[in-house]
Amino acid sequence: MSKIKPCPFCKEIPCGPFTIEWPPHNSYVKCSSNHCELYHKDGGFLLSEWNTRPIEDALQSQIDRLTNERDEARELAKTFAINFISKKHKLPWENKTDEK
Ligand SMILES: [Zn+2]
Repeated sequence: MSKIKPCPFCKEIPCGPFTIEWPPHNSYVKCSSNHCELYHKDGGFLLSEWNTRPIEDALQSQIDRLTNERDEARELAKTFAINFISKKHKLPWENKTDEK
């Protein structure tokens, strides 16, 4: 079974999955917070519906990519700053990682 995502609105862990008698073999979930709009949906959502969020998945993928780029840029800036200051003041701890 796939992992159940938190509610897209309130981030609560949903209740379920539970199975209703008809149609059989389907798992349903619903938000567990009675303050949330999705708590009040009759019958809940098919687990596959609940977990299908193409826009959210695409945005998370973009966030992950940008976070990696930010971290790489931060490391490059740190290396550049160490090398710049080391050369300017003739300090012994120059970082050699940018020399190729
Ligand atoms: Zn909710």
